[in-house]
Amino acid sequence: MHNDIVVESKRVVQGRLIQPRASASSGLATIAAAACAALCGCAAQTPSAAGAGAGAPKVILLIGDGMDDNQITIARDYLVGFNGRLRLDDMPVRSAVQVQTLSEDDPAVPVYVADSANSATSMASGVLTSAGRIATTAKADRDLTTIMELAIGAGFGTGLVTTSSVTDATPASFIAHINERLCEGPTNMLQTNERFPWLSTDCSADLKSNGGRGSIAEQIAASQLDVVLGGGARFFAQTAEGEAARTVSDLAAANGYRVVGTAQALAGAPAGGKLLGLFAPSTMPVQWRGAGDAAAELVKRAPDGRVQLPEPFACEPNPGFAGMPRLAEMASAALRRLDDVRSFMLMIESASIDKQSHERRPCGQIGEVAQLEETLGVVLDYTRAHPETLVLITADHGQAAQLAVETSAYVTLNVASPGHFARLRTPEGGIMGVNYATNDSTLQEEHTGVEVPLLVSGLRGRALPAMVPQTEIFRLAAEHLGLRSR
Ligand SMILES: [Zn+2]
Repeated sequence: MHNDIVVESKRVVQGRLIQPRASASSGLATIAAAACAALCGCAAQTPSAAGAGAGAPKVILLIGDGMDDNQITIARDYLVGFNGRLRLDDMPVRSAVQVQTLSEDDPAVPVYVADSANSATSMASGVLTSAGRIATTAKADRDLTTIMELAIGAGFGTGLVTTSSVTDATPASFIAHINERLCEGPTNMLQTNERFPWLSTDCSADLKSNGGRGSIAEQIAASQLDVVLGGGARFFAQTAEGEAARTVSDLAAANGYRVVGTAQALAGAPAGGKLLGLFAPSTMPVQWRGAGDAAAELVKRAPDGRVQLPEPFACEPNPGFAGMPRLAEMASAALRRLDDVRSFMLMIESASIDKQSHERRPCGQIGEVAQLEETLGVVLDYTRAHPETLVLITADHGQAAQLAVETSAYVTLNVASPGHFARLRTPEGGIMGVNYATNDSTLQEEHTGVEVPLLVSGLRGRALPAMVPQTEIFRLAAEHLGLRSR
């Protein structure tokens, strides 16, 4: 089990909170609206006559998992220098996203730090939910129709591309419906973890034998998505529920998917038909690591109490990345398969900005922002030929990494970070401090509740407020494609 799960679990600590005043402009209004939407349900698409033909509207949603402004600044300073500009910096419209989460026990109570499951559900369905849930409502466990399902129903192209397992929370929330994100494969539907009880799962209501849709991998295998690319082969290698020998991958093939597992097979896959690419057992390896596998570490102290800052290090290629298709290659492959004269909804995720930040690995994070940046180049090339494409770039939630002073002004008083700390030697000759201090354990860092950026092109003259709720991502995509839920 990937360590990321330790802090990505559904059990975000939820204190009982004083009910805030109801106010037309407050987040509670959004929560109330979301609760109403959850009760009313969202379903049925309205096929758009504009969905076919030259200039048919298209949406590309790029998600940097955990990519808050600290992550972007750290990456910019390292990749292009402190005078440099990323492609992200030249997007024509910038807004910010309010990240909101509901309590599972009482959906009227807000939670201030999200996980990838509930935040991706906000973007995919336009409805708030609780941490750990995949396109299902908090507490009531109703399925929420997603933008991908609306697009499929309208006959549009659809695709999910990620550097995580395709069953991980972000991609899963766009197509699957299940009460717990960890129910990724048939053998994960009911599991007990005594050391970390919050890793235990009970998705029995979604077992096929109980009339459910099965695990996330089984739901992807049964889907009508045109292209699904990422990691997660181990979940598709499991025997499917109710089958004597057939694996989830076998079910995908029976449902029309060509299943590939290497960059070469991806490049050589025929243009037509559905494609499922699984390039790693779980999360795909990242392209960079710290020199000699260096990561942030707890600040040491000499016997006399003097602070001993960690030695600076630079980034180097991660040998484990060899042979992996790059995110930009996967995005290109997806765009080639999605028809130019048909509307489509494509979600592309750079997932390990988050996962490497959990592990306090600044070079891994930066390499993943670099992958997103490279992929944005591919996307912008596409939009030059297809200006009818709405491009939305955002993050799902904040992360622990913080750009901090590399030597505290108070170091002579033996002051240092109580958390983990790295000093990065940048290519332009500086030293950048990256601090991780969301908890004092040696386990993993945790998310933060900061708002996240939204960078947009292709709005076609429409205005975007300086701050939008995360559910607005769904509305922007649905409106552009001429889709709506009722
Ligand atoms: Zn995370």
